[in-house]
Amino acid sequence: ENSETLLEVNNIEVIYNHVILVLKGVSLSVPKGGITALLGGNGAGKTTTLKAISNLLHSERGEVTKGSIKYRGNAVADLNPAALVKSGVIQVMEGRHCFEHLTVEENLMTGSYTRRASRAELAQDLEMVYEYFPRLRERRKSQAGYTSGGEQQMVAIGRALMSRPETVLLDEPSMGLAPQLVEEIFGIVKDLNEKEGVSFLLAEQNTNVALRFAHYGYILESGRVVMDGPAAELRENPDVKEFYLGMS
Ligand code: ATP
Repeated sequence: ENSETLLEVNNIEVIYNHVILVLKGVSLSVPKGGITALLGGNGAGKTTTLKAISNLLHSERGEVTKGSIKYRGNAVADLNPAALVKSGVIQVMEGRHCFEHLTVEENLMTGSYTRRASRAELAQDLEMVYEYFPRLRERRKSQAGYTSGGEQQMVAIGRALMSRPETVLLDEPSMGLAPQLVEEIFGIVKDLNEKEGVSFLLAEQNTNVALRFAHYGYILESGRVVMDGPAAELRENPDVKEFYLGMS
């Protein structure tokens, strides 16, 4: 059970606009029940990797030109984004993307659109989201556009949870948030992982926080995985300390 692999990315290349080679052979795997971190600086290719997995590159004129991506053994290339959500994978985009004119609760409800769930089930799921994000319960009638950056990040994650995902691809959850909020959000991710069994693949520039909460990490540089290992080992690695944790 522990070693069951959900997602298998095997040696993918991604090209934008037919010419710009951005991923140069990236491989990674996401086990069931794990928090896996995809680390690296600005432009390393983290977002591109997540979009390749969730089949969202077409709208960016990007294309996987080599390698394969499988979820539970099925090629994701054969699934459109909605079908992928149905099979249990959902991406929380960088920058949050709430529907600003809808309330917090309406935003959350949009996350259940791919499911044919009864009202009772939806109410139960909403309750689950509010248990993990008590702030969202307080703000449920507020227009999302008027909530704080941290609350919008919570809405984005909460909305993803409404699809009852098996795996969440979380892009840069810490972006633009004060350290205390980053801790709060990562703490909730950890709870969701432990109590609900949700698996996460999270892209983060904040190596420090990501390696404290993740079980395993991959470090990307210029479109290549340059290092990977259990988070505890990466934290102690001298190169990681020097180049990513800001201490030697
Ligand atoms: P960031 O944290 O800034 O999002 P990242 O690690 O997620 O960084 P990507 O967004 O995947 O990196 O970008 C990787 C490279 O691909 C960058 O050099 C970027 O300029 C380029 N790139 C991203 N999107 C496109 C696009 N639509 N067309 C052309 N090049 C792109």
